[in-house]
Amino acid sequence: MAKIIIVLYPDPTNGYPPEYARDSIPLIEAYPNGQSLPAPAGLDFVPGELVGSVSGGLGLVRWLESLGHEVVVTSDKDRTGSVLDRELPDAEIVISQPFWPAYLTPERIARAPKLRLAITAGIGSDHVDLPTAIERGITVAEVTYSNSIGVAEHTVMMVLNLVRDFVPQHRIVVEGGWNIADAVGRSYDLEGMDVGVFAAGRIGRAVIERLAPFDVRVAYTDRFRLSPEVEERYGLTFVPSIRELVTGIDVLTVHAPLTDETAGLIDDGLLATMRRGSYIVNPARGAITDRDAIVRALESGQLAGYAGDVWFPQPAPADHPWRTMPNNAMTPHTSGTSLPSQARYAAGTREILEAYFAGRPIRPEYLIVDGGGYAGTGAHSYASTPAG
Ligand code: NAD
Repeated sequence: MAKIIIVLYPDPTNGYPPEYARDSIPLIEAYPNGQSLPAPAGLDFVPGELVGSVSGGLGLVRWLESLGHEVVVTSDKDRTGSVLDRELPDAEIVISQPFWPAYLTPERIARAPKLRLAITAGIGSDHVDLPTAIERGITVAEVTYSNSIGVAEHTVMMVLNLVRDFVPQHRIVVEGGWNIADAVGRSYDLEGMDVGVFAAGRIGRAVIERLAPFDVRVAYTDRFRLSPEVEERYGLTFVPSIRELVTGIDVLTVHAPLTDETAGLIDDGLLATMRRGSYIVNPARGAITDRDAIVRALESGQLAGYAGDVWFPQPAPADHPWRTMPNNAMTPHTSGTSLPSQARYAAGTREILEAYFAGRPIRPEYLIVDGGGYAGTGAHSYASTPAG
């Protein structure tokens, strides 16, 4: 029987379970590319319930315990002597969400000799040191597509939020004010702007599809070019690199994984080549940017706004400069953990576990690392040499 550690964000401060705003979640039949939804043999929660926090346990605890496994659910992951560190030495499976990641560094993996499977309940497995996982033969899997559309929606919301300058206008209302001249001093229309999309995978492409009807001109870059039909449908311009992309746009959205190639890519040098008053929305990973370069660019006016919901580290410390930098519309890491997204990635996590326990292959689209190398989605999106 396996020991399984599930690292999740803490319960709501006002108690669990919360009252829900709606009685159900929208049903979708399949993902936009035809990929089927997670299909576990069983499900121990009602879709729409909060399963991403500790008491929700991703709806897995009763089922895993009924199979005789030992399950530890905790949010205690970073301090010295954390529950994660204490339980790791005999853990076979670690599950965590990118919103509250269990950072599986080489040092931690060295202290986990029995670790065989690391599951990301969500998308983005950069919190696991992938080269070490490859070396150790650990499988890394995530629930591809589970929250991609939610993140794309959040991206569009943030683009409009920054360009139209929603947050300060809302604050004026809440504070009892009505000075319209104050409110519109930084307010623009998205219509007619040049938008650049960095990486057109599942999320980036969904952002393109959603932004195109705003009558913007869209350029994009990726290691893999979209088909000529898709480029024509959305009037896309392909640009070979992010360096060339950023010079001719007003809004940059970021959707690449965090890898050795993308870490720190958006730095002072790159920001200086953008149009003055550009906006950046980054719901991919905080560390793709140079944290302090973003602050400097906002303070100087080189950037007119920055938004996103990804930080490094997570949770962000109370004094993280992005909390207070000018013209930011940051959220905590929430775009991929709406209640419908939770239902899908919890079900997908169970599907992965069912396959693992039965000795069946995990769907290739869920695999990042397997059999000592990048596999499935990992071979396409993470490997430093494009897989073709
Ligand atoms: P995806 O695998 O479908 O797409 C990633 C794309 O990035 C691929 O098309 C790949 O070719 C491209 N790419 C990789 N390295 C590149 C490089 N150096 N230059 C240019 N292009 C490059 O992934 P996705 O589902 O679209 O998710 C993208 C990222 O978004 C994830 O890796 C994750 O970090 C992040 N994410 C965030 C949230 C959230 O809640 N904020 C949720 C899901 C995913």
